[in-house]
Amino acid sequence: MEIAPESQAPPSPIPKLIEDLTLLDEVSNRTAGVSRLEMCIQCGTCGGSCPSAADMDHTPRMLFAMIRAGMRKDALMSNTPWICVSCYHCVVRCPQNVHIADVMYTLKGMAIEAKLYRDSTAPDFSQTFVDMVEEYGRSFEFGLATRHYLKHFPLRLPSMAPMGFGMLTRQRMSMTPRRIKGIDQLKTILKKAKEVEAVHE
Ligand code: SF4
Ligand code: SF4
Repeated sequence: MEIAPESQAPPSPIPKLIEDLTLLDEVSNRTAGVSRLEMCIQCGTCGGSCPSAADMDHTPRMLFAMIRAGMRKDALMSNTPWICVSCYHCVVRCPQNVHIADVMYTLKGMAIEAKLYRDSTAPDFSQTFVDMVEEYGRSFEFGLATRHYLKHFPLRLPSMAPMGFGMLTRQRMSMTPRRIKGIDQLKTILKKAKEVEAVHE
């Protein structure tokens, strides 16, 4: 049989990508600053560093693989971004400097827009938290927990009381909110940020 010279051989088929980078690009573009999400090498360091991983239905590594695969609905329905407490352990340890916590914020926003979150109280909790930060410049745990539980889980409040009492008596929590110094400057910055955000929407 005559063998065709290499230059005349039919080109080998281009392997079909199982990745759909549309979703990855979208998440990356919507993340403040540079996400470096495309640099993830699936090493798993993030999940291994995460204090909340046990409660997540997908570790950050798994979530990022789902995003790469274009699994929009599954990724946006994941509880992972809502369980993330923004401790930045994973960010510090990620060998690729992926801005993991920032990506979690992006996914929360996208889940709210698409109405694909499963915990219906999570967006309300986030909004209450943001309202308090805008008002006081910091979180006010006592007010945040009390308001959230009164609104959504009033029957669970009595079981929370011993923990709350313990935190109050050990001065780990304050009963009254305290504003940070320079709250007016923070409000000016936040106002400007909202103006910039509105222009880019
Ligand atoms: S630690 Fe960084 S590189 Fe490793 S899986 Fe997590 S995001 Fe990807
Ligand atoms: S920032 Fe979020 S995902 Fe990263 S370690 Fe902390 S809780 Fe886990």
